[in-house]
Amino acid sequence: MSLHIPFDNTYAALPDRFYTRQGAVPVRAPELFAFNAPLARALGIAGAGSETADDRAALAEVFSGNATPPGAAPLAQLYAGHQFGGFSPQLGDGRALLLGEVETAQGRRDIQLKGSGPTPYSRMGDGRAWVGPVIREYLMSEAMAALGVPTTRALAAVTTGEPVLREDGPMPGAILTRVAASHIRVGTFQAFAARNDTDALQRLTDYTIARHFPGADGPLDLLQGLMEVQADLVARWMSIGFIHGVMNTDNMALSGETIDYGPCAFMDRYHPDTVLSSIDRQGRYAYSNQPPIAHWNIAQFASALVPIMGDEDKAVADLTEAIKAFPPLYEAAWLRHFGAKVGLAEATPDDRPLIEAFLSHMAQEGLDFTNTFAALPQVPAGLEDWARQWQARGPDMNLVARSNPRVIPRLHRIEAVIAAAVAGDFAPFDEMLSVVTTPFAEADTRYTAPPEPEERVTQTFCGT
Ligand code: AMP
Ligand code: MG
Repeated sequence: MSLHIPFDNTYAALPDRFYTRQGAVPVRAPELFAFNAPLARALGIAGAGSETADDRAALAEVFSGNATPPGAAPLAQLYAGHQFGGFSPQLGDGRALLLGEVETAQGRRDIQLKGSGPTPYSRMGDGRAWVGPVIREYLMSEAMAALGVPTTRALAAVTTGEPVLREDGPMPGAILTRVAASHIRVGTFQAFAARNDTDALQRLTDYTIARHFPGADGPLDLLQGLMEVQADLVARWMSIGFIHGVMNTDNMALSGETIDYGPCAFMDRYHPDTVLSSIDRQGRYAYSNQPPIAHWNIAQFASALVPIMGDEDKAVADLTEAIKAFPPLYEAAWLRHFGAKVGLAEATPDDRPLIEAFLSHMAQEGLDFTNTFAALPQVPAGLEDWARQWQARGPDMNLVARSNPRVIPRLHRIEAVIAAAVAGDFAPFDEMLSVVTTPFAEADTRYTAPPEPEERVTQTFCGT
């Protein structure tokens, strides 16, 4: 089999200080355990069967980085970022490589290896990933795509045949191939702002506008575009009970896609204060903090634009004014997505109390977020009066059914799939992937039931 990827690279044409060119560090014995054939076709990748052992071996060579496909221009991207509020001027791809880009009917896409070995940005890290986080990202990102949430995608996953040392001992190494509308982050802008590199900032701004916001005229328009896509994205997260877990500015993409599935998880029981990440001790990235944190990140993005906006005082005043648009944009997006969940296509601010009353009841009773919405029009006991008010609003029950998934990738199920994979059994992964990528279909209760007390997982780990 010969794999053809129609690379058409543009980021690599930006100046050298945007990245470091380098290849992947080869791994001992790569084995393919997941391949997303429909996505490969959408990317125009030809000759990518995964049926025979030879096919799988050839795919494993490419998607482990052991073989560099023709036309690839591998590079590690530079970026900076605020992590838990503290600024690091140099992060960058410490364990990832952009192989290159392809142009598709849906737009340009990056193809990136994650876990491909150390780069100049690795700092103390080993540049690797283990099978746990690779499986988590694969399942979560493909489920999000099926739920209609803008997200990076998973194209392939391999085990490397090499151990990766983590807190709990040696773990099986793995590499994920990620596809993204781009890997430009708020932190990419911050890296050049921190270096006072106005030329690079201007080029990055032009590049980002051309790639993601073709109608935008200058930095203020770019900021507006970012606010719109992020307000919608975060409202979508909230509407499905998703907690990103590490909304650092390096993990906020200009494309408006969900990116960097680290200690992320879906809530089972609804409570707005829910924190599932083991590294988020202060609850900075708790479920209900996601909208204000998005606004905070947008303020950091605005700050990074100051150097390319001429007169500094005027720039600061204009940007400060501009970011005030975020809360109302978010409010509108919240009404759109939560309105749809209760069948109100044109929910207005007057509908907010009705939706909030439903959520408060769920929080008080510790009800399962996904299942309580999925059960509508049946309402929980105690909401009979609420149901009458709701019916009086004339909800569209088809919209309700379309807007409330039955299946989300529940944390305890992901943990069980990872444990099986560590023991060498990938069948549970395959099964879970097929279930979570049809989230509106009827599913086995093993996937829809909230965890039993003994199955409950209260934390998810960053898992690099
Ligand atoms: P994340 O928390 O995954 O968004 O990563 C934050 C930064 O740490 C990025 O610059 C990553 O490339 C880097 N990083 C995370 N894990 C590793 C690792 N195992 N080796 C090297 N760098 C890493
Ligand atoms: Mg990251």
